[in-house]
Amino acid sequence: MPMQIIRGDITKRSVDAIVNAANRSLLGGGGVDGCIHRAAGPALLAECRTLGGCDTGSAKLTGAGELPCQYVIHAVGPVWHGGRHGERELLSSCYRTALGLALEKQCTSIAFPLISAGVYGYPKEQALEVAVETIRDFLRTHEMLVELVLFDQDAYQTGQALYPDLIAQT
Ligand code: ADP
Repeated sequence: MPMQIIRGDITKRSVDAIVNAANRSLLGGGGVDGCIHRAAGPALLAECRTLGGCDTGSAKLTGAGELPCQYVIHAVGPVWHGGRHGERELLSSCYRTALGLALEKQCTSIAFPLISAGVYGYPKEQALEVAVETIRDFLRTHEMLVELVLFDQDAYQTGQALYPDLIAQT
């Protein structure tokens, strides 16, 4: 199964790369970003400080400190402003950029959180659609195991309702 929806904490995934839903400073925040930095230890923030931030819709790659993966890809999703401010394209671009960076490093597996669907306010159902469509497009021409790791019950129930065929069987 090249794409799977999993419920859980992304910091626990033993994949080649995990994706962080970061902010433009790349200097740490709450939500999944806070969890990733806490689990990775101070080396991650030290490396992020050297990157000079990141544009919305793009992503940058670092090592992973003490996490069980090799790389963290810090993607900056758009803040939701109602949906008519290019949010969809910017969000899709986060997924494409992160997948491209993973390819460059020869990663064969990657885990994503639901970027922008927390503090940035992107409606979960739409955020999930953008994620699944963009990942599907990528998998038409590339080989990779892609996990969408949904942390909160709301997001996971949305996943079960919209994409029952993608739910990982455990
Ligand atoms: P953003 O600022 O891009 O909205 P957030 O971190 O606030 O980023 O939320 C993005 C998504 O990540 C939300 O759906 C949130 O529930 C989820 N999330 C929070 N912690 C974790 C975690 N440890 N693993 C996976 N997903 C998480």
